[in-house]
Amino acid sequence: MRMKTIPHYYDYNSAEPFKAAILEIRPFAADTSAVTLDATIFYPEGGGQPADRGAINGVPLLNVIEKNHDILHIISRENAAKLAPGAAELALDAERRRDHTVHHTGQHLLSGTILRMTGAYTLSMHMGEETCTIDVDAKELPVETLVAVEDAVQTAIEEDHPVITHLCPPENITAFPLRKQIPQVDEVIRVVEIQNCDFSPCCGTHLRSTGQIGVLRVLDAEKYKGMTRVYFIAGRRVLRDSRLLRRNADIISRALKAPVAETGAGVLALLEKTSKYEQKLKFFQEEDAMRKAKALVAAFAGADASSGMENTGGKPRVITASFMDADMEETLRIGKAAQSLVPAVLILASEPEIKFAAFSSAHGFDMRSTLKAALDANHGRGGGGPSFFQGMFEKLEDLHTFIAAVR
Ligand SMILES: [Zn+2]
Repeated sequence: MRMKTIPHYYDYNSAEPFKAAILEIRPFAADTSAVTLDATIFYPEGGGQPADRGAINGVPLLNVIEKNHDILHIISRENAAKLAPGAAELALDAERRRDHTVHHTGQHLLSGTILRMTGAYTLSMHMGEETCTIDVDAKELPVETLVAVEDAVQTAIEEDHPVITHLCPPENITAFPLRKQIPQVDEVIRVVEIQNCDFSPCCGTHLRSTGQIGVLRVLDAEKYKGMTRVYFIAGRRVLRDSRLLRRNADIISRALKAPVAETGAGVLALLEKTSKYEQKLKFFQEEDAMRKAKALVAAFAGADASSGMENTGGKPRVITASFMDADMEETLRIGKAAQSLVPAVLILASEPEIKFAAFSSAHGFDMRSTLKAALDANHGRGGGGPSFFQGMFEKLEDLHTFIAAVR
């Protein structure tokens, strides 16, 4: 029978190397191998807590999982040859472990506090890379409640309640006032107690006392599938979050010349002002486009009259222009304005962008085949429908010869 790995992850959280022995290395799923050890300091994924990371003799762990009472240390297949059965040194990513332990213990305290203050049970938890969440069976938790919960959690952190792990045979489990349902197992159950706060069956890693959490922030809460999802962070994540927010708040404060406490209102006022300016700008842009469109249509009407082309003999009138200083956005505005003035095929180009747009308001005329042929002949690319077509060129000369050709 295979020897079961002795777990040391409940009592070992140091980055100092730990001596163990490799029992076996065998191929695992998709380009990975699984290493089994006689003893391990690596926590396997479970109970809402992600697996530890670290290295075995310098080979990095991709994951640690528990399968059929074995703890499997997953490494890449190409690294498998670097390990052999026998003595090995295990190195734990202690910073990651501490982060998980802080959040796990923080979650017990948060869930216990929410239950005590609101009567809502925690139904599930998730520990993410950025934030952690719990789903509680409350339709909603108002902001004032969340603030009160956060304050109560902080009080418990400052009072530094001991965290005690009880190893309990299943038949004695009813002795504990458990917050969570009793798991259906026939082996010893780990019950984690936060003194004066919470009893919960749990297989994760925990701190010695609540003071080690440092601080816990309830970030947000939202309705989720009839429950409320509460977002929180604890320990050093709060410090990193505070630094990030402060750095950004300082930038906004300097830009607005307003104190940090007033930056929110300042940004909203600025956005309102910008929106008014945008509306004004849009009005002037459209007015300007209409003026240019009228000038364009008038110029072509004059040219047609002087060359005796007033009667186009059933063919649609073609108006072309290549703007030296208009971008495509402006070119499109002029095109739309001109289209409203006269039934014609308009081919308007933006020289800075070496692009053109063609508009047809001439009834029943499909300009696609003509444009496509001229594009192909002049090294251009483009596409569109019977009444709107766009294209582009690498070189300005090609745009010019294209316009001359379609004219
Ligand atoms: Zn736990």
